[in-house]
Order: sequence, then C-alpha cells, then structure tokens
Amino acid sequence: MCIFCKIINKEIPASIVYEDEDVCAILDLAQVTDGHTLVMPKDHFENILDCPPVLLSKISSVTQMLSKQIVTKLNAKGVNVLTNANPVAGQTVMHFHVHIIPRYSAEDGLILKFKQNPEADIKRIENILKK
Ligand code: AMP
Ligand code: ZN
Repeated sequence: MCIFCKIINKEIPASIVYEDEDVCAILDLAQVTDGHTLVMPKDHFENILDCPPVLLSKISSVTQMLSKQIVTKLNAKGVNVLTNANPVAGQTVMHFHVHIIPRYSAEDGLILKFKQNPEADIKRIENILKK
C-alpha cells in the first residue's frame, strides 16, 4: 500500500485538514510555505492521467474551497495550484495529489520558471493536437 493510502487509512499520522467520502487533504510534511496542502482522492490513482473525470472534478472543487480558506485564514496573497504527473515531471509519490502552495511574496520558497523553446514549431503541434 502506498504512503498516502496509509495516511488515508489512518495507519500512519498526518495533519489532515479536510476529508469527505472521496477526498482527503493533508499538510505537506515539507512546507514550501505555511499552509502547503496536498489534496488527494481516497481511492488510489497514480496521477491526473488515470484519475476518473468525475473524481477529478471533486478534487478541483475541494482544491478551490481550501485555496480560498488558506488565503482568508492564513492571510496568503495568492496560491499556486499544481500537480506533477510521473517522475519526469517531478512526481515522487505515485498517488494522485494536487499541491496548494500559498504565496506570501514573490520571493518565497516556490521557484517556477517557464523557459521558452525558440525552436518549437507551434503550427506542427497545433495540427497534431487538433486532429
Ligand atoms: P510530488 O513530488 O508532487 O509527488 O509531491 C509529493 C509530496 O509529498 C512532497 O512535497 C512531500 O514533501 C510530500 N510527502 C511525502 N510524504 C509525506 C507524508 N508522510 N506526509 C505529508 N507529506 C508527505
Ligand atoms: Zn495510494
């Protein structure tokens, strides 16, 4: 059983900040910023790529609700919401989860950089994807 399934089953401790019949949210052990939260389905799916859409929709609703609460209760100025799918994208725990990372300043712990590939052939990619 994976580590998040064990947390959901209360076999190992965690700071659970929200749960319902389908969804559980815990504080990340390694807080990037205060309130860094992981929202996950109670059933085991590896990541967003194999999570059923109805469940994904519930995860999204809870993510929005908790993001609003975090902004209000912890006085965050914003949030980054992100999910990593597969190790190439930085996923280390293979149980689907969405990170809510509260932001208090542009210089706090999260560094996100979008580096443009100047050789990208946008037309070719568009043609593949819209087929
Ligand atoms: P990712 O790299 O997107 O798979 O994120 C996994 C996250 O899970 C990391 O930010 C870890 O700090 C966090 N994590 C791992 N084990 C635990 C745990 N037992 N309780 C809370 N968070 C955890
Ligand atoms: Zn699991």
